[in-house]
Amino acid sequence: MKTSIATVSISGTLREKLAAIASAGFDGVEIFEADFLAFDGTPADVGKIVADHGLEITMFQPFRDFEGMPPPQRARAFDRAERKFDLMQQLGTDLVLVCSNVSPLAIGGIERAAADFHELGERAKKRGLRVGYEALAWGRHINDHRDAWEVVRRADHPNIGLILDSFHTLSRGIDVESIRSIPGDRIFIVQLADAPLVKMDYLFWSRHFRTMPGQGDFDLVAFMRAVAATGYAGPLSLEIFNDQFRGGSPKSISVDGKRSLIHLMDQVAREEPAVAQPPVPMPDRIAVRGVEFIEFSADEAEAETLATILRTMGFRFAGRHKNKHVDLYRQGGINIVVNTEQEGFAHSSYLVHGTSAYAIGLKVEDAAATVERARALGAETFAEQRAPGELSIPAIRGVGGGVLYFLDERSDLARVWEIEFNLVAATNEPDAGLTRIDHIAQTMNYEEMLSWVLFYVSIFRTRKLPAVDVVDPAGLVRSQVIESTDAALRLTLNGAENPRTLAGHFMSRSFGSSIQHLALATDDLLATAERMAALGFEALDVPYNYYDDVEARFGLEPEEIERLRQHRILYDRDEAGEYLQMYSRSYGDGFFFEIIERRGTYAGYGAANAPVRIASQKRALNLDDRIAATL
Ligand code: MG
Ligand code: MG
Repeated sequence: MKTSIATVSISGTLREKLAAIASAGFDGVEIFEADFLAFDGTPADVGKIVADHGLEITMFQPFRDFEGMPPPQRARAFDRAERKFDLMQQLGTDLVLVCSNVSPLAIGGIERAAADFHELGERAKKRGLRVGYEALAWGRHINDHRDAWEVVRRADHPNIGLILDSFHTLSRGIDVESIRSIPGDRIFIVQLADAPLVKMDYLFWSRHFRTMPGQGDFDLVAFMRAVAATGYAGPLSLEIFNDQFRGGSPKSISVDGKRSLIHLMDQVAREEPAVAQPPVPMPDRIAVRGVEFIEFSADEAEAETLATILRTMGFRFAGRHKNKHVDLYRQGGINIVVNTEQEGFAHSSYLVHGTSAYAIGLKVEDAAATVERARALGAETFAEQRAPGELSIPAIRGVGGGVLYFLDERSDLARVWEIEFNLVAATNEPDAGLTRIDHIAQTMNYEEMLSWVLFYVSIFRTRKLPAVDVVDPAGLVRSQVIESTDAALRLTLNGAENPRTLAGHFMSRSFGSSIQHLALATDDLLATAERMAALGFEALDVPYNYYDDVEARFGLEPEEIERLRQHRILYDRDEAGEYLQMYSRSYGDGFFFEIIERRGTYAGYGAANAPVRIASQKRALNLDDRIAATL
């Protein structure tokens, strides 16, 4: 698989872009004319920088408004083409993209366009150049790859070929199966972009909202399966116009681009093994079986506060690490680890972020295979110095520089608690009925969200749900659910832009992305709430008005409403079932626990209640005043 990316896809100067593209491991680059024009050097200089980075120029683009012009403009279009040909030769590339004409002057007709391309092919041939024709979704006469292919077919010239761009095909909902009958050697390049499904003018949608494959809603696997069936063996080139990426880090966006192509072609090869090669040999996406533990880093004093909160939630101290200041608290199938070491990664994480849930332990079928896949996708592996007798737990770096550990049943990893901890015997004291970790909420900068979506969906067998906006009194927070189909792993990613929002404040206080809340499940929240209240748990206050609204919306009996109100439980219901949720007060820089009960097959996260919860949390922290004082 030859990979390429258009310079327009990332931010920076042309030099910065080329350096980032090369270091992410791409083979080639599409030089966008605007990037070249802004460059203070000759075309040969560009060609040299590209070559010095070990890249090749896969294509120069765009050349606009060429085919089907009436007489005076037609001659000028050919003159313009000759000048582009000069430039291409100086740059050292043999392929140019001609996008379908959008000029009001353009005259329609497949035959006319084909004749123009035949003539252009003759001129290109004299210079040893090739011309690719792309149907823009908003082209005046040609806006469908099937018509563009018909133009190319009738132009009947070896130097004229077709360019496919997944955005133009998928945005218009054109059947991708129509690609299968195109001869692969007549396709000069394939450009890839994903996008969220929105109703919008094609041009505006394309210029601002394209994303890397896997980050949007298009079926790029189906598109590439059809392309693979043609025998096409040329570059796969990302052409991503995205406002966020233009302002983002060239390095991380290039890395995401490479990851998106490897992930896409891995899926295509698995579904179309007769015609598609895997890009890198690696295990299939990893099925997560559950969350084994969450680890906090803290200092001694804060660890004591955290331990107190955990006890009021029915957790009990279950043991201490044999060599480290690391305590284990347990309830049901939940393991919470509190690390107060004065050295090592947890401590550096504490120094940077303060008390935080910096590591997640996931149960998987094969921990080594998980790291192998993550590494093939460009994720950073993680390992720490170990004392004798300690296990080497396979791990990678995750959101906010945190750690994802992987545990399986194949080795001693299955006995990590027995091996590394001095466990204490369980008491007969009843717990609070918490059974498992239901979901993990990670807060991050809005700009990072697409990156982490791709991270999770490419490594793990998960899917992303449509993003929703959560209303904070101070602004919107974008919320994106990532989950495995069996719900063994549920993550909510919250993207904050505004420091006045609760999520934004948490971000600024904890110096970067982190886990902001953990949702723990019970089979009976009313009983759990009663037990926790007896243990001294302080639930987040809920405004009185909220319950009048719940009563009116859902028609609950007054006694039911009273019990919810008494325990400060929020309520939601849909066709599938009911969702009851209760929150802890915020702790540290804004971390909190959520206790939930799912009834029936309710699969949501109580998003409708989020504004009430956020307002209550901000009130409890007196946050609006404190934020105002710092801004
Ligand atoms: Mg394109
Ligand atoms: Mg939640």
